[in-house]
Amino acid sequence: MSRNYYEVLGVGAKATPEEIKRAYRKLARETHPDVAGPDSEERFKEVSRAYEVLSDPEKRQLYDIGGDSALGAMGGNGAGFGFSDIFETFFGAAAGAANPRGPVPRGRRGQDALVPLEIDLREAVFGATREITVNTAVVCPTCSGTCCRPGTSPRTCEVCGGRGSVQRVARSFLGQIMTTSPCAMCQGHGTIVADPCTECSGDGRVRTRRTIPVDVPAGVENGARLRMPGAGEVGPGAGPAGDLHIEFRVRPHDRFTRRGDDLLCSVTVPMTAAALGTVLTIDTFDGPREVTIKPGTQPGHTELLKGLGVTRLYHHVRGDLKVFVDVEMPARLDDRQRELLAELARVRGEERVNPAVTGGSGMFARLKEKIGL
Ligand SMILES: [Zn+2]
Ligand SMILES: [Zn+2]
Repeated sequence: MSRNYYEVLGVGAKATPEEIKRAYRKLARETHPDVAGPDSEERFKEVSRAYEVLSDPEKRQLYDIGGDSALGAMGGNGAGFGFSDIFETFFGAAAGAANPRGPVPRGRRGQDALVPLEIDLREAVFGATREITVNTAVVCPTCSGTCCRPGTSPRTCEVCGGRGSVQRVARSFLGQIMTTSPCAMCQGHGTIVADPCTECSGDGRVRTRRTIPVDVPAGVENGARLRMPGAGEVGPGAGPAGDLHIEFRVRPHDRFTRRGDDLLCSVTVPMTAAALGTVLTIDTFDGPREVTIKPGTQPGHTELLKGLGVTRLYHHVRGDLKVFVDVEMPARLDDRQRELLAELARVRGEERVNPAVTGGSGMFARLKEKIGL
C-alpha cells in the first residue's frame, strides 16, 4: 500500500480518534464488497488497513515516525495485518465460512484401512504375491454411487436454488450486510435425494468383502507397512477411495533367524567330525548347500555362506547366511570308545591337564560377537 493512511481515510494528520473512527465507518459502508460489489474489495482492505493502524495509538505513533517500515519492525503484528480478524469481528464467523465456490460435492473421500498380513520368513527373503480379503466399502452396484433409486435423480434444493448456500441480511453499524452460510436443507450439496437407493440407503456405497492382490516386497521386515493408494474404503456418495495400509508380520522360522540382511542358523557336529573335518549339507532357502567343516574346527566357529541371506529392501543385493558351528561331546562311552579316547589322550600327552583360568567380561563379549547376539 503506497497511499498515506490519513489520505486513505480522508482525515488530517491531527485527526482525533473519534474523527478517524467516524471516517472509517463511512468508508467501510461504501466500500464493503457485499454492499459495493466484489470490485471494491481491494479498496475495502486498504481502508481497513488504514484504520487498523491509525486506531491503535502505539501503531499510529510508529507510523507517524517511520511509516510502514517502522510498523514492520514491530514484528508480525504490523506486517501480518489480521484482515480476517477485523472482518469476523464485524460480520461474524459465518461470513468467513461462506463457500464462494458453490455447492459442496456429495462424494467424500473414504477412510484408510490398516490390515495385518502374516508372511513366513521365506516370503520376506524373496518377496511374494499374496492375496488378502478385506471387509470394505465399494460403490453401490444398484445406484452406481448416485445415492438415488435407479430411474430417479436428485432434485435441485428449493431453499438455496442449487447454490448450496443461503444469504441472509444482517444489520450492523455498516448498514445492511448480506452474509452467506451453507444451506441447512441440503447440507450445502445444492441437491436433495428425494428417493434414496434402497440397497445403500442413499449412501452411494455398500459394505462387502473384497480380495486384493498384495506384492510382498523382498526384504520386508516384521512390522513394516506398505501403502496401497486408493485400495481402501470408497467414501460416501462414491467419493474417492482411501488408502489401504498392509502391516507385515513375519512368522518366526524354526531354523533361521534374521538379523538385518543376514540369516543366522546353527549346526551341531560331533567332536570327532570337528576334529577330523567333514562336509555337511544344509537345507537353505536357496536349496541344499555344502558347508565344509575344516579339521580342528572349534566350538563357536562361524561359517559364512555369502549371498544366501535376505534381499535388501528395494535393492538386488542379498546378505549372508551365517552358520554357527556347535561341537557336541560324547556323553556316554562304551568300553571300546573309552579305550580309544584314553589312548588318544595318552598319545597327545593330555592325561593330566592343568588349564590356565581365563574369563572376565571380555570373554563374554567375544562369545556374544561370535554367536551374533
Ligand atoms: Zn445405492
Ligand atoms: Zn439447499
